Amino acid sequence: MTDPFGRSISYLRVSVTDRCDLRCFYCMSEDMTFLPKSDLLTLEELDRLCSAFIAKGVRKLRLTGGEPLVRRNVMSLVHSLSRHLDSGALNELTLTTNGSLLEKFAAELKDNGVRRINVSLDTLDAAKFRAITRWGDLDKVLRGIEAARSVGLKVKINAVALKNLNEDEIPSLMEWAHGKDMDLTLIEVMPMGDIGEGRIDQYLPLSLLRARLAARYTLTDLPDDTGGPARYVRVSETGGRLGFITPMTHNFCESCNRVRVTCTGTLHTCLGHEDASDLRKPLRASSDDSLLAATIDRAIGLKPKGHDFIIDRRHNRPSVSRHMSVTGG
Ligand code: SAM
Ligand code: SF4
Repeated sequence: MTDPFGRSISYLRVSVTDRCDLRCFYCMSEDMTFLPKSDLLTLEELDRLCSAFIAKGVRKLRLTGGEPLVRRNVMSLVHSLSRHLDSGALNELTLTTNGSLLEKFAAELKDNGVRRINVSLDTLDAAKFRAITRWGDLDKVLRGIEAARSVGLKVKINAVALKNLNEDEIPSLMEWAHGKDMDLTLIEVMPMGDIGEGRIDQYLPLSLLRARLAARYTLTDLPDDTGGPARYVRVSETGGRLGFITPMTHNFCESCNRVRVTCTGTLHTCLGHEDASDLRKPLRASSDDSLLAATIDRAIGLKPKGHDFIIDRRHNRPSVSRHMSVTGG
């Protein structure tokens, strides 16, 4: 699949549920309204949808959410999708999780061909963690990370940089992650969805954070070989890798290779646009995939060039109305 700007689309992110056991304040409002269960694709339908994308050239698939591990029976989807790893059609099946249920599922993920996972963790301070997630238990997440590492899953930590909240803690978070041989990737907060407050008080430009880190550590740019939006540096003092995802300060759209599908079968070809194509209708209209494939082609043909995220005093409203939990980042 190639979009109008010559970008080859080989990466699909699937949000298997919009629900979550946490309520990170920058992601969701406290009183989120979730989709009625009747709107969701079944796990069998999600498998068929993913398989249609794989047939069209997707080589990497990431399950996300909401929290993917709260979807009932999600392991049966992981298991059925792992056949594409066995056949060689898919290079990688992976997951982004908040880690709270990892202790339970780590071994099963590994058994089903998952090699690497991303765990989102913004702080190592239990009280701050509770404040950020509104009620989360840091210990559970740390146990989940250890369970994942102990079964041999490679873990990357993702942290959203939050003004006045975790900005002073980034060096210790990095040293902790690198001490366990885990990459740390920092992410700028994006203005997605109404969360009951503006973004100005949350947003911390990573250019600022990087300059602060550079005063304390030796950062060496690494070649851009991930194909993703993160730019990595090697930190000499820890020996680990530190990534920066900077949608606000540096637009990363020119190399975008990904599209996103929600748990209702809506295809979003850009994280930062309202564009949406319904795949549920063609999926359900026939058991043959040709209608579905044609709908996917049409949507890829309209993939926008880039996002229009802005956070400043004049633009303190969401750039995109859907929450991050709809598409999973
Ligand atoms: N629940 C899982 C988790 O937290 O990893 C998967 C879904 S979550 C929406 C995916 C990622 O998006 C997390 O790393 C989270 O921190 C990040 N995220 C959520 N809202 C965001 C926002 N407004 N701006 C930037 N990142 C955000
Ligand atoms: Fe849940 Fe992940 Fe959003 Fe936090 S960032 S509320 S864990 S979906």
